[in-house]
Amino acid sequence: MSENKTALITGSTSGIGLGIARVLAQSGYNIVLHGLVAHDEGQALAQEFNELYDIRAIFHDADMCDADAISQMCSDIHSQIGDIDVLVNNAGIQHTSPIEDFPVKKWDAIIAINLSSSFHTIHNLLPAMQAKGWGRIINIASVHGLVGSVNKSAYVAAKHGMVGLTKVVALENASNGITVNAICPGWVETALIANQIKDVAKAENIDINQAKTDLITAKQPMPKMAKPSHIGELVLFLCSDAAQNITGTTMPIDGGWTAQ
Ligand code: NAD
Repeated sequence: MSENKTALITGSTSGIGLGIARVLAQSGYNIVLHGLVAHDEGQALAQEFNELYDIRAIFHDADMCDADAISQMCSDIHSQIGDIDVLVNNAGIQHTSPIEDFPVKKWDAIIAINLSSSFHTIHNLLPAMQAKGWGRIINIASVHGLVGSVNKSAYVAAKHGMVGLTKVVALENASNGITVNAICPGWVETALIANQIKDVAKAENIDINQAKTDLITAKQPMPKMAKPSHIGELVLFLCSDAAQNITGTTMPIDGGWTAQ
């Protein structure tokens, strides 16, 4: 299934993206790692993937705020490793604040990184999938693509946009052998939520572990966070033949958050 297939996972130098990259690499996919880390660190991670999983791995550090850099990344990938068969749009950032205090630059960055970058990667990489008659596009949205939460105007707007983008690209490619789906995680333990945990600890004058539990259970009936590898396993399933008729969907991994 993964024979000679290559996956690009944006934002795969840490957290959920790295978890997805490891699961796909273990299954034999060649991997394009991507993220905003020092070039040496990214190259070392690619080298680790080459040796550990016996696949081809390369690294790119395009800034997801920059449309031209994303186009350049897509053409660099094509010359270095060939066509992308599986595109996982995962890079993202967070900022929390009431809308009246929300910094305009943070709004622009969140819309660019969490939403527009997915338009740019799809725009650049879809034609090769169409030519092959096979492709998988998996957008890592969030429960915040389905419901709102206070202080997350930019994040919720971007993630709802990502869910809309998922549906349209799925419909436009329904006859092309390409499926397009969004995964909507609840809490996943990564660097992205570290500041939110610290904010709760400070506001309530409690320790980090209690703050973590309070943050999770405020929204999520199940008190455990998901692991990045859990998201990776769902991505792997969506790449399988058994998932060939699953398209245009939003799949929560959210401990019951959106069942309420
Ligand atoms: P993370 O901070 O661990 O990883 C983010 C990745 O994005 C990193 O590789 C980083 O280098 C990259 N990145 C950030 N800004 C970039 C930029 N300008 N250009 C290029 N790369 C950039 O975060 P995570 O928790 O693993 O989040 C990954 C995705 O999962 C995000 O889209 C996030 O919204 C989503 N998500 C996370 C959670 C959670 O609870 N952690 C829940 C739902 C959805």
